Amino acid sequence: MPRVLFVSLLTAAFFLLFPAGNSAWARGAGPARTGETALDPRMSIIPSPVDRGGPGRVILSDLDLIHEPAGVFDGKPIFFFATRKGLTGLFGADIMLEPGLYPLIVNYIDGRGQPFQLSQTLRVQDKDYGTRNISVPQSQVDLSAADLDRAAKEKALTDAALATVSPIKLWRGPFLEPVKAAINSSFGRQTRMNGILNPRPHAGADYRAPAGAPVQAPAAGRVILAGDHFFAGNSIYIDHGQGLISMYFHLSKILVSEGQVLEKGEGPIGLVGQTGRVTGAHLHYGVYLNGARIDPPAFRKMTDDLEDY
Ligand SMILES: [Zn+2]
Repeated sequence: MPRVLFVSLLTAAFFLLFPAGNSAWARGAGPARTGETALDPRMSIIPSPVDRGGPGRVILSDLDLIHEPAGVFDGKPIFFFATRKGLTGLFGADIMLEPGLYPLIVNYIDGRGQPFQLSQTLRVQDKDYGTRNISVPQSQVDLSAADLDRAAKEKALTDAALATVSPIKLWRGPFLEPVKAAINSSFGRQTRMNGILNPRPHAGADYRAPAGAPVQAPAAGRVILAGDHFFAGNSIYIDHGQGLISMYFHLSKILVSEGQVLEKGEGPIGLVGQTGRVTGAHLHYGVYLNGARIDPPAFRKMTDDLEDY
């Protein structure tokens, strides 16, 4: 039996069994759905499976029957916005998320004003981002108590910035590149330093831009943190709304201030440099989506295809 027909019959059976608005399903439990495939034609997930460290999107295509959608994946919220393809929500599979099966849930109000829920099991697949071995003087590995103290204080600031979830989506359309330079594919890579593997993978993409190269805002947003940090050097964090944050590290100069609202392409917001704990000039560019650290080039590619304008 074709899958779509099968789903239609299931839906018909569901409404015969639970015709009134006071059933357990209608209160938000939703029909049980298992397996990895899209069983409900109203909800599609792209890509499926999703890479560890990769971005994904959920598209709800039946606009008449879906109101106030709010999703959850890996304990993180998914916000929806209008695109030509339907209501679309973005999510990320964090670079350190264990590969496996995860539920992706969308709650909404249906056409009869009742709460409803769609749920789909999504596979997060592993991806080999590589490992590199480097040797540095041990003095650069062993940090002083003062350095550790400073880094801990700054982590509290950056954690707070990364936890920002402002409800309005401030950006539209494809993201731009933050700097005109070649990118290396170092996102997700792990480093073995003097033989010790750092469990934290590289959470951004590095651009090989020379010192002084101008950095632009790849999308509209608001500067929520700007300052000089021990590891990241001169850093800028931009909130693009709905839990999407981008960040720019190791700058020689910061040219924006906290609270400043930026348009897409506005700049320079800073100049490439080699501040913080780095060995040479480059731009470290990070993209976090509701706390999930995701591959910036993969995210940019996804925004090319959103049609949210
Ligand atoms: Zn980096």
